[in-house]
Amino acid sequence: MSVTETEEFIQFVSGARILPGSVPLTHRYGGHQFGVWVGQLGDGRAHLLGAYTNRHGTRWELQLKGSGKTPYSRDGDGRAVLRSSVREFLCSEALNYLGIPTSRAVSLVVSNDDVKRDQFYNGSVENEKGAIVLRVAKSWFRFGSLEILAHSGETELLRKLVDFIIKQHFPLINATNSNRYLEFFSQVVIDTSNLIAHWMSVGFAHGVCNTDNFSVLSVTLDYGPFGFMDFYDPNFVPNTSDDEGRYKIGNQVNVGRYNLNKLMKALNPLLDLKQQLLAEQILKGYPGLYQTKFMELFKAKLGLFGYNNNDEYLITYLLKLMEDTRADFTMTFRQLSEITKQQLAAHSISEDHWALQDVARHTNFSHWVNLYLSRLNRNIVDSDEARRTRMESANPRYILRNWMAESAIKKTAGNDFSEVHLLQKILRHPFSKQTEAEEARYSSRPPPWARELRISCSS
Ligand code: AMP
Ligand code: MG
Repeated sequence: MSVTETEEFIQFVSGARILPGSVPLTHRYGGHQFGVWVGQLGDGRAHLLGAYTNRHGTRWELQLKGSGKTPYSRDGDGRAVLRSSVREFLCSEALNYLGIPTSRAVSLVVSNDDVKRDQFYNGSVENEKGAIVLRVAKSWFRFGSLEILAHSGETELLRKLVDFIIKQHFPLINATNSNRYLEFFSQVVIDTSNLIAHWMSVGFAHGVCNTDNFSVLSVTLDYGPFGFMDFYDPNFVPNTSDDEGRYKIGNQVNVGRYNLNKLMKALNPLLDLKQQLLAEQILKGYPGLYQTKFMELFKAKLGLFGYNNNDEYLITYLLKLMEDTRADFTMTFRQLSEITKQQLAAHSISEDHWALQDVARHTNFSHWVNLYLSRLNRNIVDSDEARRTRMESANPRYILRNWMAESAIKKTAGNDFSEVHLLQKILRHPFSKQTEAEEARYSSRPPPWARELRISCSS
């Protein structure tokens, strides 16, 4: 019997048993939600159990989500529904295997108790299955963890917290240097710009980019109404509760700067006047940092080496063609990785390459192809086979599309977790073609009902 099948383990991951020495705690934090300072929030349904150092020496903080009321629950019940727990579990693992910094999921336990939710906020309250996820991150501190202390004038506690975070998670920063808070801020600006560029490179929209959901370690956390876009659309809004599209995919880069500005304000009490001005200069570097990372990632997606003046144009041009033709974001890039240069030059695009067929309907497609092929020819020491292999490892064939999560979640109502397990297995190797995934049509055109799917904040 494996450890995970033991009664002790199940009790531990469901919050029924506390290990000796563990002092469960909940974080106090605040946040800017949808552009408004909402004051104190805190972990309303999460319990930190402690830290675990694995055999590689990596320290993980263990947190239960959906484990019941806390001092910060406010009007909430402290619970989480099964559907959102499955989504968090699968997506955090999926992002990890796509190479994107994220919290991870260890286990999911289905509860016997029902949870009441008005899923679409239309007055129809239903009993749903509840669940508890054990999730791990190197740290669960958020921008809002610092903001709440700055807002309430607890400057000494703020200093203590930031010093603690620096000491524990930013080993390259000298903890006695008087510029340490600036260096910390500078690193978070870099890491956040990289994270958001990464999200964009796989078409991921977080959905609720409030400052309480932004990690000081710049890892993806708090999976709610997120979504991977199917067809390319900068206005893609995954969250039906986000009427104004504040957190639409194309706005994530701006929201990142907004959130970093709030973090900077929270750090201001620890900075002298000169340092405050420097922090503003650091923040001004954010768009450039983002653009550099974005270009690096998208050049890799197109298999480009080196630098050419027109690279940005080439990428933007393709995205525009995709937008005009509503071509699938993931599969257009993937299929460009699979097709040979000869086939592309001859416009010989097979049925298998359905997303490329879509984008090829654009009148400017052949113009773009000419530019692309001549740019590829500027790659020194490259072969078409090497290009394709390289691009296949930069462009996933499988992502967690909403319809896939929904299909798996529907089956859990009948206690059938087979598709959850299948997705977990497939998404561990998103860049490799897998027979079971093809049979399940995970790289095919999304079914028509995928377009009708709506994901709200309710979780
Ligand atoms: P979220 O939008 O999921 O990031 O949550 C925002 C805040 O509301 C966080 O402080 C959560 O802990 C809290 N919250 C969300 N759902 C619940 C719930 N069911 N019970 C208590 N607190 C909750
Ligand atoms: Mg949250």
